[in-house]
Amino acid sequence: MTATRLLLPARALQQPEWASLDELKDVLLSLEAKPPLVDATACADLTVELGRAARGEAFVLQAGECAERFADANPETVLAKTDELHRLADEFTDASGLPAVRMGRIAGQYAKPRSSATETLPDGTVLPVYRGDAVNAPEPTPAARTALPSRLLLAHRNAGTTLSTLLERDLGLAGRTASQRTYAGHEALLLEYEQALVRPDADGGRYGSSGHFLWIGDRTRQPDHQHVQFAASVSNPVGVKIGPKASPEDVRTLVRMLGDPRRPGRLSLIVRMGRDHIGPKLTALLGALGDEAAGVAWICDPMHGNTRVNGAGQKSRVVGDVVAEIEGFVSALHAHGLRPAGLMLETAHGPVTECVDTAAELASTTPLPRYESACDPRLSPHQAGEVVARTAELL
Ligand code: PEP
Ligand code: MN
Repeated sequence: MTATRLLLPARALQQPEWASLDELKDVLLSLEAKPPLVDATACADLTVELGRAARGEAFVLQAGECAERFADANPETVLAKTDELHRLADEFTDASGLPAVRMGRIAGQYAKPRSSATETLPDGTVLPVYRGDAVNAPEPTPAARTALPSRLLLAHRNAGTTLSTLLERDLGLAGRTASQRTYAGHEALLLEYEQALVRPDADGGRYGSSGHFLWIGDRTRQPDHQHVQFAASVSNPVGVKIGPKASPEDVRTLVRMLGDPRRPGRLSLIVRMGRDHIGPKLTALLGALGDEAAGVAWICDPMHGNTRVNGAGQKSRVVGDVVAEIEGFVSALHAHGLRPAGLMLETAHGPVTECVDTAAELASTTPLPRYESACDPRLSPHQAGEVVARTAELL
């Protein structure tokens, strides 16, 4: 039985049903011929910084879109997002005294795992769900929701444009130290795209050249599936989202498959349990991992375990829940003698009203007025500032 299973190719969940496999093949050949989007040395630098964060000598602040839009890949919008990331990081450092490793959910965050493959419109029409701009478009029409391989080329081009803006900005900022540069991370969901962009690194290995930091989502982190195999095959710093259903056995397997004792910072576990689960579940996980927990950069995602639906039917999140999860995260790690390595937030650079300040606001049946996210609700700059300030206090 086991032998038979080993011969079968590993499964990959959350992959689109592309409109044309012939076109997909052409697109992938074209991607394979392109120069890397990011340098292997920058990825290695980030691994070192994440290692510092794991030891408590720095703190990773990762912020940005749930689902990045192609239309945002213009210098003005990219700079507005980057300025917001660095504002949060500067405020964090001022309040905590810890250097911040600055990372966007940017320049490639174009693919989304979804809880259902279809969406039913109010008139009963059933459409394929929006899976991110690299796959289809959010407008509720059959044409927009068709998974077009040509979108992978657009994803690559828009990621490239965005990264050029980040790089120009970093180079133009006299006085910024290396630790104040802007790193780019995204969920490595579309395996054909990610695989097509794998390139040789400087050490005789291979790295994913689509972004500095690549993470595997909570829905695709099965140790015997292809996403984890992909993460194991590249030298980038990688992350895995850990939700409340993750078993300690699976997490231990992930640490052994993806961690590297010679490269602290190679593996981040991005915990997203929800405010009510974080204390008991993270404590149990740390207990089960024992000494192995120290080899990991522990990052808190206080967003994805705290999604609620408001009276108007919109997905939202309460700032108090976000803060409560961060508090539970920090105290569970401290109780085990470990240091929190970072925070991953979904943020907007403009004053959106997608997350709410108090749980009472969830009852309202009036839709939140400025709701612009293509996927999950993001913190406004003001809300993100509060969350970061509270995190700085806890450290
Ligand atoms: C996300 O980060 O947008 C996401 C889908 O997270 P998770 O895999 O933790 O649900
Ligand atoms: Mn999200």
